[in-house]
Amino acid sequence: MRKHFYYGWGGFSYNLKKNNCLNVIMNKMNKWIIFGVVIVVVAILAFRPLQLFYKYYLTPCAADGPEKQDDFEMHLEEINLESYYESLEQFDDEFNVQVINEVTYKDKTYPIYQIDSVNESSQNRLLLFAVTHGNEFASALVIPKLLREIGENEVYQSWDVRIVTPVNPVGLDYQSRYNENGCDINRDFKDFQTLGAQIQRDAIQEFNPDIIISLHEGPQKGFFAISTASVSRELESSILSELQKKEVQMASKSFLGLPLTKDGLMHEGFIITTAKKIFGIHTLGSYGELQGVGVITTESSWFDTDAQNRIKPHMIVVETVVNEYGKIAP
Ligand SMILES: [Zn+2]
Repeated sequence: MRKHFYYGWGGFSYNLKKNNCLNVIMNKMNKWIIFGVVIVVVAILAFRPLQLFYKYYLTPCAADGPEKQDDFEMHLEEINLESYYESLEQFDDEFNVQVINEVTYKDKTYPIYQIDSVNESSQNRLLLFAVTHGNEFASALVIPKLLREIGENEVYQSWDVRIVTPVNPVGLDYQSRYNENGCDINRDFKDFQTLGAQIQRDAIQEFNPDIIISLHEGPQKGFFAISTASVSRELESSILSELQKKEVQMASKSFLGLPLTKDGLMHEGFIITTAKKIFGIHTLGSYGELQGVGVITTESSWFDTDAQNRIKPHMIVVETVVNEYGKIAP
């Protein structure tokens, strides 16, 4: 009896110990299972942005040739290249309009234009690039409108303006971000293997601009401008206040959903500049900074179905730069 009692208690305590152990193991396992599930969920959620980051930032040539994008929603409008070139050439009597290069793709020749305003009393030089990414069609449509404005608005008289468009003519024809070789021109500012990047580098060397503006569009709701480190804070705030005054819808997040410095503005300060160096992302902005020239990149929204709405904020930024730069710059 005693023995039985003993064993009984012994058995009970053994069971108790076993149960405790099981509980502990189960608890530990639960923790690991929860931890594992969290990791998997985070990885799945992060995977898409990481995949997009890899494709759009770290792969200079992600396609075999010009191709349409299907990673993002996008309102596209076809641009008739012949009419576009005609719309540039009609400014021939007021501006110095010339073809500076040509791309041949599938037996078709695509000219790239350089348009210079002709001023005798100019003090500053603005260099402007349009259509680095061929699917960002509104950036092409800004140019004829801007040329009309330059001809009419006195504020441009103290500026030499040089415009290069379309930087990526094959992309424009095929509604493709990439050029004829499937390369993203705005990731090629180290090796300069694309004609688009070479043309921009040569224009910077030859024209020696005070400031550069590059017209783009992106998959964010609303408009924003990216300014590199040497663009003054005063100029940034003038641009923001003009955009606000003219009721432009401002983006609060950028390309991959990253929060902006302010609504409507991404300032490429020390952190972004260093991150671009670490990841080896060589954009026009990085190159401009190396040359000591500030670069403003304008980004209207791909989603907007109203082309005029997309054109408007680019025009405001250009006009504000021309209006304010001389007052602010040393
Ligand atoms: Zn772009």
